[in-house]
Amino acid sequence: MDLNQVYRNTVLSVANNKTVQDIVKQRAWSVAKRFVAGEERQTAIAAVKDMEKVGVHGILDLLGEFVDTEAKANEFADEIIRLLDAAEGQGFPIYVAIKLSSVGQKITLANGENLGMVNARRILKRAKELNAFVALDMEDHPLVDLTLEQFRTLVGEFGNQTVGTVLQAYLYRTEQDRASLDDLKPNLRIVKGAYLEPESVAYPNKRDVDLQYRRLVYQHLKAGNYCCVATHDESIIEDVKRFVQMNKIPYSQFEFQMLYGIRRDLQVQLAKEGYTVRAYIPYGSDWYAYFSRRIAERPANVMFVLRGMLRG
Ligand SMILES: Cc1cc2nc3c(=O)[nH]c(=O)nc-3n(C[C@H](O)[C@H](O)[C@H](O)COP(=O)(O)OP(=O)(O)OC[C@H]3O[C@@H](n4cnc5c(N)ncnc54)[C@H](O)[C@@H]3O)c2cc1C
Repeated sequence: MDLNQVYRNTVLSVANNKTVQDIVKQRAWSVAKRFVAGEERQTAIAAVKDMEKVGVHGILDLLGEFVDTEAKANEFADEIIRLLDAAEGQGFPIYVAIKLSSVGQKITLANGENLGMVNARRILKRAKELNAFVALDMEDHPLVDLTLEQFRTLVGEFGNQTVGTVLQAYLYRTEQDRASLDDLKPNLRIVKGAYLEPESVAYPNKRDVDLQYRRLVYQHLKAGNYCCVATHDESIIEDVKRFVQMNKIPYSQFEFQMLYGIRRDLQVQLAKEGYTVRAYIPYGSDWYAYFSRRIAERPANVMFVLRGMLRG
C-alpha cells in the first residue's frame, strides 16, 4: 500500500470514531463550508447560479447517506422532489445526484418491494417531466451489485437521458462492470473512489487506480457512450483531452466534473476552453461523512481543518 492510501485509510478510520465525530461536528462547520454550499436548498440553487455565471453547470446534491427508517427515506425523497421543483425555471440545466441508500435502498417493504426503487421511481418520474438528469452516486463496495442492478432496471424504465450512474476506478471489478453495461449505452461518471475499501476488493496503490481510471474513460468513450470524467487530476484531464482529439470524439460525448470548493480555477479554465464542465454542489445539514471523505483525499486538508477548528 502506498503512502497516499495509508493517509486516506487512516483519516477515514479516525473519522468513523464517534468521539471524533462529535468534536468535529460541533466545531468544523466554518471549515466544512469550503466543500458544502450551505444547509438550505435555496443556498444550493444560488450556488448553481453563481457557477453558471462563469460557464460551469451544477450538480445538486442533498447530503445524506444510509437511512434506517421508511419515514426518513420517504422524507429524503420528498425533499429531492422539492429540490427539482424549486430548480424548475431557474435558467440552468437541472441535474441532481442521489445516493440510493438515502432513499431506502436497504429497506424491504412488507410487499417485498425495495423502498429505494420505489423512491427512485418517484424522483425519476418528476425528473423526466422536468427534463432533468439524475445521477445515482456509487457508495461502498457491498452496494455495487445492487446499485448496478437497480440502475439497469431504471434505465429500462426512464431512459439514459434521465438517469446515469457512477463507476469507481479503485475496484478491481470495475472494468468488467463497465463492459457489462455497454448494451444500455449508459451515461457513466467515472471516479477514482472515495470510500475506505479493503485490499481484497480495491487497488491499494494510487498508481494502479490512476491507470485503471484512464482505461475506463478511454473504453467508455471508444464504445460510443457518454462519459463524465470526474476528477481534479490534471494529468488525467490532459490525457483525456489528447485522447478525444486523437480519436475524433466530439465534445458533446463527454464532460468534466469536479467538486464544489476544489479547483474552481481549473473548472473555469476548462469551460473557457469550450468543454462542458459540471461542479457537484452538496448542501444540507448532514455534511459530516461527505466532509470526512474530502479531508481524506489530501494531506494538506488536515492542517486546513485543524487551523479552522482552532480559530473556532
Ligand atoms: C463530480 C464528482 C462526483 C463524485 N462522485 C463519487 C461517487 O459517486 N462515489 C465515489 O466513491 N466517489 C465520488 N467522487 C469522489 C472521487 O471518487 C474522488 O475521491 C475524488 O474526486 C478525488 O479524486 P481525484 O480524481 O480528484 O484525484 P486525486 O488523485 O485524489 O487528486 C488529484 C488532485 O486533485 C486535488 N484534490 C483532490 N481531492 C481534493 C480535496 N479533497 N481537497 C483539495 N484538493 C483535492 C489535488 O490537487 C490533488 O492533487 C466524486 C468526485 C467528483 C469530482
